[in-house]
Amino acid sequence: MITAQSLPTQPVPAAPRWQALWRDAVRDPHELLALLGLPALAARLPAAATQQFPLRVPRGFVARMRPGDPDDPLLRQVLPLDDEDRIVPGFDLDAVGDGAARGGPGIIHKYAGRALLVATGSCAVHCRYCFRRHFPYAEETAAADRWRAALEWLAADTSIDEVLLSGGDPLSLATGKLAEFSEGLRALPHVRRLRIHTRLPIVLPERVDAELLAWLSSLPQQRVVVVHANHGNEIDAATAKALAALRDTGATLFNQAVLLRGVNDDAGVLAELSERLFAAGTLPYYLHQLDRVAGTAHFEVAPERARTLHAELAARLPGYLLPRLVREVAGAASKLPL
Ligand SMILES: *Cc1c(COP(=O)(O)O)cnc(C)c1O
Ligand code: SF4
Repeated sequence: MITAQSLPTQPVPAAPRWQALWRDAVRDPHELLALLGLPALAARLPAAATQQFPLRVPRGFVARMRPGDPDDPLLRQVLPLDDEDRIVPGFDLDAVGDGAARGGPGIIHKYAGRALLVATGSCAVHCRYCFRRHFPYAEETAAADRWRAALEWLAADTSIDEVLLSGGDPLSLATGKLAEFSEGLRALPHVRRLRIHTRLPIVLPERVDAELLAWLSSLPQQRVVVVHANHGNEIDAATAKALAALRDTGATLFNQAVLLRGVNDDAGVLAELSERLFAAGTLPYYLHQLDRVAGTAHFEVAPERARTLHAELAARLPGYLLPRLVREVAGAASKLPL
């Protein structure tokens, strides 16, 4: 069994391969455009947005993009464009009311029985539509010394039966860090489920290594892993293998996607995503209407169009492959059907 004590094993192991791949991510938009043979797009790079939320994309994810295609659905998700600089009324800094829902140190408590831990602010990829792109991670993460305070908060509220590790991306933490936290959770019998919200198995499947799998298998709680893919092209052989390995630990796998104009606002594309996910042992969970966060207006799909797409999808797929179309409303008791 893996414990916090045994995980940073002796002798000190070499840094895992995924961390090297992580560090090697593309961060220069001009390099990305050169890799894809799209130098002309440089004219559309923004001035301000990249400073505050810079480009970041693992090379393995770039390899799934179509060279020479400025409209590639994976490229659109990660490439900052000057559209982000536009100020659009209704698109704000804290669109989902996270600021008001702080439960404790690094904890967001919005829904009955579930507490979300902002485990870290880091992600392997920076998604341009991200609803947390303006979140004050530095003050709010539960990592490092805040773990203890977060655990105390969880211990005090026995109505919490599910803890969600989120972020940022919790799997961007070293497995030893995750084990430290899960050791603390063992002492809280009211927490019966541990849920991990992560995009890493999709964008950097190498993260799903033997150490992570051993840790997941060792947990006493029921485990749920919610990954995040928006387009079928994100799921290649390596990703499918990583998802299968996660499932073999006994975790239940779901996917959430965000409905994004120019990426997946097409019933055929969404159907293909569901099919590929299921082939990899993962069920579609939510299809989110975009949260109205500053700098993301160009990704929005009008609610009417979203409903039409969802109805088309329902007509094509078995019910269990149909994600729930939802939106988040600040102050609501759950995600709401659109
Ligand atoms: C979305 C979310 C959850 C999980 O909601 P489910 O409907 O159970 O998937 C929990 N806490 C917060 C703060 C959330 O934003
Ligand atoms: S991985 Fe998730 S949290 Fe990180 S930038 Fe993308 S959408 Fe946001």
